[in-house]
Amino acid sequence: DELISQIAAGEVVERPASVVRELVDNALDAGATEVVVKLMAGGVRSILVEDDGVGIPADELPLALRRHATSKIASLGELESVATMGFRGEALAAISSVAELSIASRTEGAPHAQRIDARSGELVPAARGRGTSVEVRELFFSTPARRKFLKTDATELAHCLEAVRRHALARPDVGFAVWHEGKLVEQWRRSSLDQRVREVLGEDFVAESREVQFEIGPLRVVGRAGTPAAARSRADQQYVYVNGRYVRDKLIAHGVRSAYEDVLHGGRQPAYVLFLEIAPDRVDVNVHPTKIEVRFRDSREVHQAMRRAVEAGLAPPQA
Ligand code: ADP
Ligand code: MG
Repeated sequence: DELISQIAAGEVVERPASVVRELVDNALDAGATEVVVKLMAGGVRSILVEDDGVGIPADELPLALRRHATSKIASLGELESVATMGFRGEALAAISSVAELSIASRTEGAPHAQRIDARSGELVPAARGRGTSVEVRELFFSTPARRKFLKTDATELAHCLEAVRRHALARPDVGFAVWHEGKLVEQWRRSSLDQRVREVLGEDFVAESREVQFEIGPLRVVGRAGTPAAARSRADQQYVYVNGRYVRDKLIAHGVRSAYEDVLHGGRQPAYVLFLEIAPDRVDVNVHPTKIEVRFRDSREVHQAMRRAVEAGLAPPQA
């Protein structure tokens, strides 16, 4: 069973950034309004994610660590319309099979917090306000072969920051802070989408992009798309979200790309941040454990919507 968990973990946990993504997903699912990420040695030594969400009742703490235990989905039918980030109940189990993991959590009205250590299963009283702190230490400590594939701390930190950035763009209503080695390295306060995009992607991105706001049938696309005249190529600033979930999708990328076809030359890559909203039953998010891939019921409809949304955004305003 240990081996099976470790193999499953391989699909979910590739590097510290994968842990950060899953823990922040959980914090957001718990209704957090502030999420704090504290890293040591690029997250390889330790990752601590603290939230002010609803918390986990003490008697459910052991369950949270169990494989296929999720509090978020009650039936297979619900899989069709998942609104939460997590729903497979795999992340914590997978992480705890390749690292040391502990959770301290407190629900509203509980006399104090409780901490559980994944390895021993032991529960002890802890001190914190309402919400949850998950600490992950010594990633891949028992699988040196995997640990060998990790890059320098600076590179792993960059990946962790990118993971938080992806969440931050989708959730301007939530405050995020990232600490590394005791220093605050990034902070985004709760604000509007406009302001969040400005802070995360920069003033120059905003100056060199146009607003996208498009609706067709059951699909809605909002966000910002870089203008063809943008000063530099920005392949690293292409963000796409489907129902609030960050995805990498060839079909969507192609749809966006085709909007630039006649105006963008020389292999330049535009920056964009686009949010596709689509009826949940028209998209399957349960394709891959990392949930980064999706499958659409009608791919042509999505491709066209993305292309037309960006085209409309880039078109000069009508006189
Ligand atoms: P999933 O998110 O797919 O349900 P996870 O393994 O990520 O699976 O988490 C297992 C369970 O632990 C969740 O369903 C939730 O009940 C609980 N949980 C994990 N993190 C938090 C958190 N930060 N706040 C509240 N509950 C949490
Ligand atoms: Mg989860």
